[in-house]
Amino acid sequence: MYSILFLVVVGALFLLFYKGRKSKYHPSPFPPEWTKLLNEKVHFYKNLDPVGQTMFEIRVQRFLADKRVTGVDTEIDDTIRLLVAASAIIPTFAFANFNYPNVNEILIYPNAFNKNFETGEGAEGNILGMVGNQFMNGIVIFSKPNLLKSFDGKAHSFNVGVHEFVHLIDGLDGAIDGVPEMLVNNSFALPWLTEVRKEMKRIRQNESDINPYALTNEAEFLAVASEYFFDAPEKFERKHPKLYKYMEKMFQQDL
Ligand SMILES: [Zn+2]
Repeated sequence: MYSILFLVVVGALFLLFYKGRKSKYHPSPFPPEWTKLLNEKVHFYKNLDPVGQTMFEIRVQRFLADKRVTGVDTEIDDTIRLLVAASAIIPTFAFANFNYPNVNEILIYPNAFNKNFETGEGAEGNILGMVGNQFMNGIVIFSKPNLLKSFDGKAHSFNVGVHEFVHLIDGLDGAIDGVPEMLVNNSFALPWLTEVRKEMKRIRQNESDINPYALTNEAEFLAVASEYFFDAPEKFERKHPKLYKYMEKMFQQDL
């Protein structure tokens, strides 16, 4: 049994190398303190079987080998780097070779920020994370305390990390519109959007527990629903069985 599992992992590693030749990633043992941090903070990782955990660790190392995580007026440590990588891997866990070709750098801000990227007193920042566009292409920004709060080891429906990386997956086809071509094939794009609009109606009528920020547009709906789907899958399935079925198919994950 275990020899088969071993072959699966080695095969996956081979694929990662073959497909990702431009990656700076070199296999190296996963630091035990990182395993401890992931177990404490990332329940998605904690719930994986041993082979899944090994795959997750390889993906984390590969992500961090290829992307810069930079603190802006704030210190960053391994916890922050790991949580950024975990946010990226969770929604794309089923796609072993995927490593965000549209991301170069992740900036960590000391707090929530405003649209001029100002933080602190007087700035009245309420943005917790964002995907850069135009001159900020390839850049993702997170507020440090909100990233930490997203991974407190508990199941809730808030995760700024997953939210922003889902926007990045959505935007790969050129439009952040709630219908990522990588995840939604043509045959169910329409039924998916129909279900989204039905749920938006329920949110408007106060009959849904999905964060009303999802009403902004279909792209925000997808990002907000994904936070819930990955953070509290059992509750999401119970409360939103139809959406759950679609999202299970999109992300190719049975949580
Ligand atoms: Zn958003």
